[in-house]
Amino acid sequence: MKVSQHTVVTELPGVGEARRKKLEKLGICIVGDLLRYYPRAYEDRTVIHPVQAAPLGEKVCVCAMVAEQPRHSYIRKGMELVQVRAADHTAALYLTFFNQNYVRKALQAGEEFIFCGIIEEQGRHRVMTNPVFEKVGKQSMTGCIIPIYHLAAGISNHLLASLSRQALVCVCEVADTLPHWVRREYGLCQVEFALQTIHFPESFEALEEAKRSLAFEELFYLTVGLEHLKQRRRGAEGAPFSAIAMQEFINLLPFVPTDAQRRVLEEVAGDLTKGEPMNRLVQGDVGCGKTVVAAFGAWACIKEGYQAAMMAPTEVLAEQHYRTMSALLEPAGGRVALITGALSEKEKRRVKREIAQGEADLVIGTHALISQDVVFSRLALVIADEQHRFGVNQRSKLAAKSGEAGMPGTHVLVMSATPIPRTLALMVYGDLEVSVIDRLPPGRTPVATYVVGEDKRQRMYGFVRKLVGEGRQVYIVCPAVEEQADTGGVQALELKAGKAYAKRLAEEVFPQLRSGLLHGKMRPKEKDEMMGRFSRGELDILVCTTVIEVGVDVPNAALMIVENAERFGLSQLHQLRGRVGRGAYQSYCVLMTGARNPDTLARLKILASTTDGFQISEEDLKLRGPGDFFGSRQHGLPQLRLADLSGDMRTLSQAQQAARQLMKRDPCLQAPENLPVLERVRKLFSETPDIFN
Ligand code: ADP
Ligand code: MG
Repeated sequence: MKVSQHTVVTELPGVGEARRKKLEKLGICIVGDLLRYYPRAYEDRTVIHPVQAAPLGEKVCVCAMVAEQPRHSYIRKGMELVQVRAADHTAALYLTFFNQNYVRKALQAGEEFIFCGIIEEQGRHRVMTNPVFEKVGKQSMTGCIIPIYHLAAGISNHLLASLSRQALVCVCEVADTLPHWVRREYGLCQVEFALQTIHFPESFEALEEAKRSLAFEELFYLTVGLEHLKQRRRGAEGAPFSAIAMQEFINLLPFVPTDAQRRVLEEVAGDLTKGEPMNRLVQGDVGCGKTVVAAFGAWACIKEGYQAAMMAPTEVLAEQHYRTMSALLEPAGGRVALITGALSEKEKRRVKREIAQGEADLVIGTHALISQDVVFSRLALVIADEQHRFGVNQRSKLAAKSGEAGMPGTHVLVMSATPIPRTLALMVYGDLEVSVIDRLPPGRTPVATYVVGEDKRQRMYGFVRKLVGEGRQVYIVCPAVEEQADTGGVQALELKAGKAYAKRLAEEVFPQLRSGLLHGKMRPKEKDEMMGRFSRGELDILVCTTVIEVGVDVPNAALMIVENAERFGLSQLHQLRGRVGRGAYQSYCVLMTGARNPDTLARLKILASTTDGFQISEEDLKLRGPGDFFGSRQHGLPQLRLADLSGDMRTLSQAQQAARQLMKRDPCLQAPENLPVLERVRKLFSETPDIFN
């Protein structure tokens, strides 16, 4: 049979219906998928050690002759043992195989094999248990660099390697979609070589070359896609604004904006009056005062007779914004509406009608805002708060709403408190202009942060009493898996633990204080009520899960205690910590942990040593990899298979340069020689299709 890229995997020997299903889970359906299913690691089996001198305790390969017929025995019911002695010219090697009866036939006395495994010493003997072996001269998995793949149940590495090898037969069919000049100018190797090498490298040098080329390609197509997006918006018209009297807005504020805030307001005003749709990201550490920027945009819309929509990732946050914005904008004649999943059907209908008839000027909501039947009458600005929770997708969906109302291109303002490392920001927000608020409002003292072990728990409780005595409020955060439907079991358990803990705190530890519990499983109304009580100062202690992670603002809260702090990522802890230190009081963050692992403690201590969100996120990226930022796929960008965004700045900037060169030459990718590029980009973004229509 002739194998082609499009051959379904079941055509390959050894793949039946059961394995097809399992492979499908790995995203492998056709032979072409196998080619692009890159190994996650490699094992060096190129070095053959003499048995006597081979290092102990690590994986090694030796070449030895089988010295006797294998012996078979049962050690107990269901457990078979095959033992055999082999030797090279330096020493004997005693091999043991558990439950691998076929070994008796495969290993014949007098024949030479490569054995790969871990050598240990037992008495004076060198032994190896369950080695991988192949006959000398026939080997495909020994004597070379072996690919290690991500596996699924029932799919072994051996199977994947052998399927990849079969798939590589048709590697010459893989079309080279990268423009020739790019390949030449950036010194990239041919696709055929790159794919061959990524699976079965001849050497580690060749592997590096192949990796670089394939990562470059990924980043190149991704950038072309993002540039395409940007360009499309560039051609569009934005809802027009006349000159904006900024001072008038500033007079509404209860405080004087910082220089950093003023600068960003100027940038936004510039965008709105430019005629093109604004597409701006406002990045700034927690508490730096991004909300003002959103309020400004909304205010400008109201002045101009337009509508603005503001999307928040949680109901708690939407409701908080609703309070802030109402207080700020209603004196200026703005009508603010709130739409969340918490509203009754009747209320929802009423709010939707107000939105459709233009009776609401600023609409604040959760995902409910994107729902199909919310129709605006003259939407001009979309604000997405805490962007990392939203994808490119959701942003563009909401922006598309204005089109329905026959408005020109919507302005988009995105706010993110996740200080995203530069490499990631370049990718995720490649289609946005970026403003940074790099100063905190005056009068803030950095949150004093401590990593504290269980032995100091009583002292910590004492500290809580002291601060509450001074009139401050306290958050106690317990880990809980929030909004992950598939981990229902774990969540239920942790929720129970959280509830029990809250109860114990209220009844035993702080009977004289007022405490409440807030968690993601509560009904929105209850959540709102609880949050409201805390922010009005009716509660001293709020025991909560990470529902308060983003945006919540209670300036009187001066202490945050995080239980099981080791279970959070650094960036997340930094976000949490941002809930305190919002007022004029000296604030504290206590990271409780029972962990003793020095690495874990060192990780937590980073937080105690700096309050610079960017530095923290760089550390997080180094320690945990980009998965945390990219893993959830909420950003809506295509998955990167190979490109390592935590390290490879150079490849990224080269790929971006090449992509921009291409777009400059052929902005719409219309030239016949660039059609394959367009195809690839379309395919890459196929999971987020609304980008390209
Ligand atoms: P974030 O950037 O985390 O969204 P917020 O906009 O919620 O921050 O602002 C945090 C707190 O700081 C709020 O209570 C807000 O009223 C206050 N604030 C913002 N800007 C200033 C300023 N220039 N001077 C004083 N307080 C400010
Ligand atoms: Mg905020």
